[in-house]
Amino acid sequence: MKILVINCGSSSLKYQVLDMTSEILLAKGLVERIGIEGSYLTHEKIGTEKFKIQEPMASHKEAIGHVLNALTDADHGVIKSMDELGAVGHRVVHAGEKYASSVLITDEVVEALTECIELAPLHNPPNLLGINACKELMPNTPMVAVFDTAFHQTMPPESYIYAIPYEYYEKYKIRRYGFHGTSHKYVAERTADILGVNIEDLKIITCHLGNGASVTAIKRGKSMDTSMGFTPLEGLVMGTRSGDIDPAIVSYIKDKENIEHSEVNNILNKKSGVLGISGVSSDFRDLDEAVSKGNERAELALKVFAHKVKFYIGAYIAIMNGVDAIVFTAGVGENSIDMRDVICNELGNLGIKLDLVKNKVRGKETIISRDDSKVKILLIPTNEELMIARDTFNIVRTI
Ligand code: AMP
Repeated sequence: MKILVINCGSSSLKYQVLDMTSEILLAKGLVERIGIEGSYLTHEKIGTEKFKIQEPMASHKEAIGHVLNALTDADHGVIKSMDELGAVGHRVVHAGEKYASSVLITDEVVEALTECIELAPLHNPPNLLGINACKELMPNTPMVAVFDTAFHQTMPPESYIYAIPYEYYEKYKIRRYGFHGTSHKYVAERTADILGVNIEDLKIITCHLGNGASVTAIKRGKSMDTSMGFTPLEGLVMGTRSGDIDPAIVSYIKDKENIEHSEVNNILNKKSGVLGISGVSSDFRDLDEAVSKGNERAELALKVFAHKVKFYIGAYIAIMNGVDAIVFTAGVGENSIDMRDVICNELGNLGIKLDLVKNKVRGKETIISRDDSKVKILLIPTNEELMIARDTFNIVRTI
């Protein structure tokens, strides 16, 4: 069965087509600037040159129409007609407490996700636009929603309840949800495979360090705690997001700067993190370059980032009463040799010893701990699309 995986953002859309008989990637692409002047689609049939279509795409429906044209194109396509697609898997950010695993999309599911818009105002609306557009363009193709929050629904209440009046949890569902669940789950399952150990027998800390970043404590294959919370703002320092701060800072900045609440929100989401500290960039490659030229604030930003990751690793070792494996994934985790080194430095007393030679690697599935390290350290490139395709395939083949 061939499956189309769709990940819709507000003005962008990523897609992949996978053949699930052998889990092979056939094509992938990206539409950018949807609804903005200068929309374009970059499509790649795997093993051939990328090609670009520059056309106005005023809506997600138009964008998906162009994706379907590219997929069925005589030269660059990978299917003869849309009927060859057995299902569509959609990445959906927030399912609240409603879904703890992926689901076949029905009208009831769409209604439930619409109710979750309040919890994820930036993410769920474009996800729903993608779902509705596919429904119109491919009315007979089954669709599955795979949620970022689902994997973390196993967190115990002591991990997800905030110490604010309980009525706010009851009335407004204010609690910690966690995100990047598909990625954390994928790398945890790969860890068990690579180590040849049943996931039920493992305590794993997964570090998804990208532009957005989160750490998860996984015991017996279940998320026990994760650093993101009610929104993806909590937890680690990120590219542009502050992560954990004293909540009193919000009203303090608002008063001091005489700005609206929404502006403070914007500052914490878009102007903070390593960008905010360094004043240079949210991209770790730019920061590395700035550090090499002696920029002290860029150096400080990287130190604060690493400190926070280390802080969560320590916390999760305590929560799980130990750890067997620590995994690095996503843009920074997969590529930054120095960042992995700084994070793992001086953890020897906890049985965590990075092999500085094995660590000199990027984007490759491998073990990077020393042979005498009690805790295995792994680098595992994440593959959220494959995980979405797998869930979609497993649900659709039973209907
Ligand atoms: P992601 O959100 O997972 O796509 O990660 C994107 C981030 O990964 C970028 O903003 C970069 O900061 C970081 N990144 C990618 N390649 C490298 C690299 N070679 N060294 C350091 N950071 C990198």
